Amino acid sequence: GTTYMSTTAADGRLVPLRDEEPFLVGGVWIPPGDRDRIDVVDPASGALLSRVAQATAADVDAAVAAAAQAHADARWRGLPPLERTRVLHRVAELIEAAAEELAVLETRDNGKPIERSRADVAAGARTFRHFAGAPGRLTGAVIPIDGNGAPHHAYTVLEPVGVAALILPWNFPIMTACFKLAPALAAGCPVVVKPAEQTPLTMLRLAAVCAEAGLPDGVLNVLTGDGEAGAALAAHPGVAKVSFTGSTEVGRLVMAAAAPSITRLTLELGGKSPNIVFADADLDAAVVTAMRASFGHSGQMCTAGSRLLVQESILGEMHERLAAAVAKVPVGDGLAGGITVGPLVSEEQRGRVLSYIEAGVAEGATLAYGGGVPDRPGFFVEPTLFTGVRNDMRIAREEIFGPVVGVIPFADEADAVAIANDSDYGLAAGVWTRDVARAHRMARELHVGTVWINTYNIFDPALPFGGVRDSGLGRDLGDEALHGFCERKSVVVAL
Ligand code: NAD
Repeated sequence: GTTYMSTTAADGRLVPLRDEEPFLVGGVWIPPGDRDRIDVVDPASGALLSRVAQATAADVDAAVAAAAQAHADARWRGLPPLERTRVLHRVAELIEAAAEELAVLETRDNGKPIERSRADVAAGARTFRHFAGAPGRLTGAVIPIDGNGAPHHAYTVLEPVGVAALILPWNFPIMTACFKLAPALAAGCPVVVKPAEQTPLTMLRLAAVCAEAGLPDGVLNVLTGDGEAGAALAAHPGVAKVSFTGSTEVGRLVMAAAAPSITRLTLELGGKSPNIVFADADLDAAVVTAMRASFGHSGQMCTAGSRLLVQESILGEMHERLAAAVAKVPVGDGLAGGITVGPLVSEEQRGRVLSYIEAGVAEGATLAYGGGVPDRPGFFVEPTLFTGVRNDMRIAREEIFGPVVGVIPFADEADAVAIANDSDYGLAAGVWTRDVARAHRMARELHVGTVWINTYNIFDPALPFGGVRDSGLGRDLGDEALHGFCERKSVVVAL
């Protein structure tokens, strides 16, 4: 039956939630039936929201087969490019029409502040709009060739890679879904999506939106379940491409699972991003942005600026400014509005974060603010500031995924580059300086996928996003993402 959750959404609307959510294979919504169940919990209260099925190996086979059949029938790739454009624009329109419902659902499911959920939903719609124009731009080139002295006509074409498996994390459920779905569909691929077991609800709603927009049956299949379902999907020989966002640890497992079939891979993994403040920077802007960069979404962002590198000559002043700013970071239920630090996604995640705070103290960093658990229900940790952090401490090397930032002092530009690049990760970096030449020198020297100068966490569907080293392989967004769901074929004709 359908239960109705009352919410405190700005417009006071009710968000319908069923006791059990079905998953989608070949255009058919399949109730959990006799499968195992996974509880879907509201992290702000611990209350049960719904239950989803643990998809079985047979479900994975069925979903991949449904996608393969849609591809064989050319149900999607065979449509005229402008028809695919029309459907993808329609998806964007329907996301916008359901924006508030999707945002409230995302905050209930994940705990993130409602403003962030609204921004994530809007970014999802924009991503569909950006890639809606792509089907007509999947062009090749005519290539002049030698052809052993005989005249030949040679050209290249871009073709969809085949069935794409999209495996999603819990920290940006609907946004990462759109980051991957839009270019995969624009490329002409059928997909099987496996949202994170903690946060499956908005992906299920998005699938209904895509069906309403006119996406043919079997082109988008959604399996609920945990890592076991993800592993079966990544290893499936019928899957041509896996696009995965999640931890580096699981990314390695996905890579190994993909090896036997030489399955194509995009991996968006963890980070330990340096946010570097030089003495000549606009410190007001640097401090305000540092709060967002380190505590936004309670630090549960792959790009979290969790290593705050501060030039020694302004260390004292920055310690004072940062301590004052951290004390003002708003903590609370994400639906309350104006919140930066909401609950962490689960009790388990809170335990992990608290153990990192203990490790920071044990290794000799100074706990300058926070470190505790606020007296309230839900999985909260106080925004936490460490000073006197060395880059070899665990809190500087490992991804914490919580509201914890560590200040690491540096002497000069060369020192900043050396510390910043001394990491297994290479996702992103922030640089704060008024010196234009230094800004561009830093951008050259930093070994990361994205450099933000005097800003942080700016994304756009047109701008490729991804990491180097242990932060990943390939790119989401931009033409890189589109081409990541394509194969380039060369055709040679004897004249
Ligand atoms: P996770 O690696 O635990 O899980 C990610 C997904 O993989 C989930 O859907 C999970 O069910 C599935 N999974 C688990 N085991 C699997 C296996 N053996 N084979 C296949 N799939 C499996 O990550 P998470 O905790 O959900 O997300 C947090 C992590 O994601 C952080 O490390 C964060 O940095 C990273 N992240 C990266 C980006 C990026 O773009 N670089 C964006 C968001 C999150």
